[in-house]
Amino acid sequence: MTLPDALDCFAASYAEARAKFQLAVARAEGQLSTYVHPSARGPDGGSLAIDVACFGPADAARAFLIVSGTHGGEGYTGSAAQIALLGTGALARLPGDTRVVLLHAINPYGFAHRTRTTENNVDLNRNFVDFSARLPRNDAYLEIHDAICPRDWSDASRAAAQRELDAWIASHGQQAWMQAIMAGQYDEPTGLNYGGRAPEWSRSTLETVVQRHLPAVRKLAFIDWHTGLGQPGQPFFLCFNGYRDESWERVCEWWGRARIETAEGYGGAQRPTYSGLIFHGVQRLVAPAQMAGAVIEFGTLPVSEAYEQLRIDRWLKFGRPDGDAERRAGLRRGVRDAFTPPDPGWRRGVVEHAVSIQRQALAGMAAW
Ligand SMILES: [Zn+2]
Repeated sequence: MTLPDALDCFAASYAEARAKFQLAVARAEGQLSTYVHPSARGPDGGSLAIDVACFGPADAARAFLIVSGTHGGEGYTGSAAQIALLGTGALARLPGDTRVVLLHAINPYGFAHRTRTTENNVDLNRNFVDFSARLPRNDAYLEIHDAICPRDWSDASRAAAQRELDAWIASHGQQAWMQAIMAGQYDEPTGLNYGGRAPEWSRSTLETVVQRHLPAVRKLAFIDWHTGLGQPGQPFFLCFNGYRDESWERVCEWWGRARIETAEGYGGAQRPTYSGLIFHGVQRLVAPAQMAGAVIEFGTLPVSEAYEQLRIDRWLKFGRPDGDAERRAGLRRGVRDAFTPPDPGWRRGVVEHAVSIQRQALAGMAAW
């Protein structure tokens, strides 16, 4: 089996990623469906869409759903992982009663603009909550929102904000800090990890895709590709199945218990309790089908530095412009490289890992 060239799987723009994905789907003889965003546009004014590729019979009971671009700017790597899998030929030789659905650029606005959030500054991976019920509260985030999101991104304002955040962490602890900044919040529409007030277009489209393209699923394998957390270039698994339940054990069989049950990844803190994850959204949607899988990250920067880049990403949208276009462009490049490292060694390594991880799940499904 020869792998496609890993570097060729990465695109330099959203439009290029789509073209590469569509070409790879055609070569692999998959069925392509496109869901065009009704209003949002790319930075070049181009239209935005979610592309969906299906393999295997529509009425299959076993299926594998692979999602890229939930956090838009991380989508270049998830897209490369999907394109690489398409290039292996594995999807043309699926066992019977097995379907594979690749969902490309679920947050096409964020992908095209190389930002984490959707067109409404919503973190799509916090948007899968029940909006008819009371929304989760995150009072700790509200206490530190102004320091996390200063109006100016200058040395003086950052130093003042850091003093405030250091004092907050000193009195509340590292775990409370991680929970405050990562769990999700539903009160500050221009803040970080904002989960929104209604289902995003990307969420509704995912729901349509699952209903339309996975109508008979009873056993679902799931991967949501991300970048940021973990050791540089290494996969970091976040399984949101119940600890050591049947699906958790299945995922351990596919990918190795040591990878699933690691305590690392949050700079010494425990994993926060997230609200509104796509993982749980898909799980509810396919119930009573069983679902086993993970959010899988590829590490880029230490968690504190990656978080700094998210603050910059947010400041570029909502902060007070300092009139220095060159500096803004530099900051923008920093955000881009933080979530899609240009280093060819990093890119080759993650594509190799991603192909192997996807094939492990396919092999595991055959025995499920
Ligand atoms: Zn992410």
